[in-house]
Amino acid sequence: MIVRGPLWRSLIGLGLLAGAPLSIPAFAQPVAPSPEAPTGRTAKSTSVATKDMVAAANPLAAQAGREILAAGGSAADAAVAVQLVLNLVEPQSSGIGGGAFMVFWDGTAMTTLDGREKAPAAAKPERFLGPDGKPMKFYDAVVGGRSVGVPGTIRLIEIAHKKWGKLPWKQVIEPAIRLAENGFTISPRLNGLLSQEKYLQNDPLARAYFYDAEGKPKAVGTVLKNPAFAQTLRAIADKGADAFYTGDIAQDIVATVTGHAINPGDMTLDDLKSYVVEERPAVCGPYRVYKICGMGPPSSGQIAVQQILGVLETQDMAAMKPGPDAVHWISEAGRLAFADRGLYVADPAFVSVPVKGLTDPGYLKSRAALVDPNKSMGKAKPGEPPFQKTFLWGASDGIEYGTSHMSIVDRNGNAVSMTTTIEDGFGARLMTKSGFLLNNELTDFSFTTVEDGKPVANRVEANKRPRSSMAPTIVLDNGNKLYAVVGSPGGSLIINYVAKTLVGILDWKLDPQVAADLPNIGSRNGPTELEAGTESEAWKAALEAKGHDVKLIDQNSGIHAIVVTPAGLIGGADSRREGVAIGN
Ligand code: GLU
Repeated sequence: MIVRGPLWRSLIGLGLLAGAPLSIPAFAQPVAPSPEAPTGRTAKSTSVATKDMVAAANPLAAQAGREILAAGGSAADAAVAVQLVLNLVEPQSSGIGGGAFMVFWDGTAMTTLDGREKAPAAAKPERFLGPDGKPMKFYDAVVGGRSVGVPGTIRLIEIAHKKWGKLPWKQVIEPAIRLAENGFTISPRLNGLLSQEKYLQNDPLARAYFYDAEGKPKAVGTVLKNPAFAQTLRAIADKGADAFYTGDIAQDIVATVTGHAINPGDMTLDDLKSYVVEERPAVCGPYRVYKICGMGPPSSGQIAVQQILGVLETQDMAAMKPGPDAVHWISEAGRLAFADRGLYVADPAFVSVPVKGLTDPGYLKSRAALVDPNKSMGKAKPGEPPFQKTFLWGASDGIEYGTSHMSIVDRNGNAVSMTTTIEDGFGARLMTKSGFLLNNELTDFSFTTVEDGKPVANRVEANKRPRSSMAPTIVLDNGNKLYAVVGSPGGSLIINYVAKTLVGILDWKLDPQVAADLPNIGSRNGPTELEAGTESEAWKAALEAKGHDVKLIDQNSGIHAIVVTPAGLIGGADSRREGVAIGN
């Protein structure tokens, strides 16, 4: 059942959502289109379903997930279908040429799978330095084979299916094969991003696929077929992910990466063959009566979200309500979190990341004590987390805009929170003959190798995974029951998007649609960032009076969230993008 609009409001009125009344503050009503968002905003109403739900970045992908859930598939089955369809319909953001993190809840245990790309064995720290020893310009590094990491997504979804799938592997791949063979229509967002794109046309296969003979992006509504991808999926359906990591597809990937005329990479068949998905302990921490769980290193996502929440926990956020005071606390907490993130977090196989200390409630209390309620601290310094000593390093950060997040709950109460990426929009701008784009994830490494005389934690090294900000999150209630599934794309802004949405749902008792659509705000230890074109602009003066250096910037989140209530599942899909939340 899907009910839009009035019913969820009446559910809220009846106090059925998590036993707590939810409300919609005036400032959170749909706002005027923000000029930066490539496809603008579409006001969306909350979705309600009784059995299961999927919230994903494109209607065709969400529909594929819903079809699998309706057939009795698990959240993991649906995630496979959603991911493979996203590869077709939202190719700019994720696919089998990229990497992903999945958080899975099976009703009793929380498991995380790390399908992050890794650097080839030949990679060296100076990979992104020019001949002058200075960091390369971002797009000089991105476009071509140099930035391509060994993809992890297909092995990740295969493992998730083996662990938690109920339907046959071939069946969960079928919706994507169908769309690849029969075609799907180009969405306004894909068309809009192709129009803005500068580099993709230089790749002959991508040009032929996405653009017409005159070099114009194929129009919205054009039916696009991808027989090469259909063939790739059939091979994977028959032989599993091995068909990707060895044989013809692997050879195609290596040839594409190493054959780039200007900026070739060094990936080998051995790099592909030796790729493994890591199962890692979930990083969980308390917030009020809830338990927040997510992905540990090499992602900085959950650590940073937990650090922000740990500072906010010292305040009565519910009483504060959205506005300048809330932004003050959230952005000060963000500064502290990003200062630690820059120094401490990288691939745990290379760096001993003090996860326990960084998320320790006592440590976070001591960090909260650094916040002056009346004045911004400006730039935060990293702290000294307890328990674990570690060698130290310099910071580095980039802003990226690719990626996709899906939230899924099945009828047995299993949940998937998965953030999946090819890094920048359209990745390395390299299309394989096998019908998919390759990632540029290696530019998530620090380009510089040494700062303040110390090696940078997130520098490039052979077989290392670049630090991520992706924060697929699952929230449990005080009875250890599934309460919410949340995540977003957005590069390092993901951390602030997820923290904001959690405060919206958990403190302000907003339904997930309204929480996702709240203005994005926060700080990454630089300026205090308010979302241009939203009501938050009105908070600028009050923040400046507290010493904040305020910047209004585009904050094009893609938050997909589901909340479990006694009345059913309530879902929200960020109005800034074209996703939907639908269920049965
Ligand atoms: N590559 C980024 C990360 O892993 C995500 C990029 C994005 O969200 O646009 O943190």
